[in-house]
Amino acid sequence: MAACIFCKIIKGEIPSMKLFESEKIFAFLDISPLSKGHSLIIPKYHGAKLHDIPDDQLHEILPVAKKIAIAVGAEDYNILQNNGRIAHQLVDHVHFHMIPKPNDTEGLG
Ligand code: 5GP
Ligand code: ZN
Repeated sequence: MAACIFCKIIKGEIPSMKLFESEKIFAFLDISPLSKGHSLIIPKYHGAKLHDIPDDQLHEILPVAKKIAIAVGAEDYNILQNNGRIAHQLVDHVHFHMIPKPNDTEGLG
């Protein structure tokens, strides 16, 4: 979708700190991290909400989130996925947050 910022990130039209890419998935660091290592894992398929995304575009999401959590050394972390404004979704391209929860005062989230 031409106007979508996450579609532009996938295409490289907006720079990002890329962590992983495959045929169906893209992962990158959040621009406004709630803690060190806060990452976003997204399907390349554009859809605003989870129910807009075909199942076969989602299979890699949690395995990639798991690998990133291990790679950044997150012991405790949240996987979050918001759908709709009332649920605090700001970017209308499905994304899963991986938010490390450090056990010191470094984390803001
Ligand atoms: P939401 O509230 O929609 O679940 O979260 C959207 C997330 O996308 C926020 O954590 C925000 O910091 C992140 N974000 C918004 N625009 C950009 C961007 O241009 N680049 C990156 N890397 N993250 C972004
Ligand atoms: Zn998009």
